[in-house]
Amino acid sequence: AKEVGRNSFQLFKPAMNARSLERLAMMSRLQNAIESDEFELYFQPKQHLNSGKILGVEALLRWQEPSLGVISPAKFIPLAEELGLIVKLDLWVIEQACKELTKWRQYDIEAGRLAINISANHLRQGLLASNVARLLEQYDVDPRKLEIELTESCFISHFSEAKQELLALKKLGVHITLDDFGTGYSALSYLTKLPIDTLKIDASFIAKVPDEYGNSEIVTAIITLAKSLSIHVVAEGVEKIEQLNYLQMLNCDTIQGYYFCRPIAKQQWYDFYLAKAQS
Ligand code: C2E
Ligand code: CA
Ligand code: CA
Ligand code: CA
Repeated sequence: AKEVGRNSFQLFKPAMNARSLERLAMMSRLQNAIESDEFELYFQPKQHLNSGKILGVEALLRWQEPSLGVISPAKFIPLAEELGLIVKLDLWVIEQACKELTKWRQYDIEAGRLAINISANHLRQGLLASNVARLLEQYDVDPRKLEIELTESCFISHFSEAKQELLALKKLGVHITLDDFGTGYSALSYLTKLPIDTLKIDASFIAKVPDEYGNSEIVTAIITLAKSLSIHVVAEGVEKIEQLNYLQMLNCDTIQGYYFCRPIAKQQWYDFYLAKAQS
């Protein structure tokens, strides 16, 4: 067995090296990426199911590295966390969001709320609410226009710290969304113990709707539960009309996904908004 182990190790060694080299390259470049202005926010609208109205838009981070190309946040966010850069990156995102909301006001863009994703790591450090408050004030932005999407991972290990932060954000008037709902540790009690305004049903469930038996029942149960707690529901990753129709039947409030619109760059998002607003 030892022989096999050694052989397979040799077999996989070049691949592992390539991967760790890529990781190393990304790590060293991530350090200066903010200063080098390599990040950009893309925007994906959320649509109210019954009226078709744009209810909000989610900002999604893109990293355009000059030699590595466009790198997915699924790759660089974990690295930024490891390198202790995540708070800096989140602050950059919050500030960009405030600037964007200033523009919305200036140009009368009525696109609901602007949602941003915040790392669980940031929440745990206890400075999120005060950072958000400071930037909202600096840019003179209405806190009710800002939405923060968080995953449950931060509630497990640091429940009381996370709760304090969420209460402080809530007090400011910021909208709070629980992202990726149904995955990971999903303790249903979070929904009653924390000031959650919206939950987002994870795309993995939506992908199997309406075909897979059992799965649709879970989605139905999540929507019913949320409704009974007066929590707003968003389905993410909606790609097909069949999914949309099914979600409409279940009284899901809002959808987000390629079916309505892909994440798009800022100018395209303005064009999309204007086309919708005029139709
Ligand atoms: P998320 O917050 O769950 O975002 C949803 C992801 O699904 C996005 O991937 C989006 O582009 C993608 N998506 C949207 N509609 C569809 C669809 O219909 N079908 C499919 N297959 N995918 C769809 P993206 O932009 O690559 O982001 C991945 C993750 O990276 C995000 O997951 C979020 O956890 C994280 N992330 C993105 N931007 C930021 C950020 O500014 N800060 C932090 N801390 N994390 C971010
Ligand atoms: Ca999100
Ligand atoms: Ca999500
Ligand atoms: Ca996710």
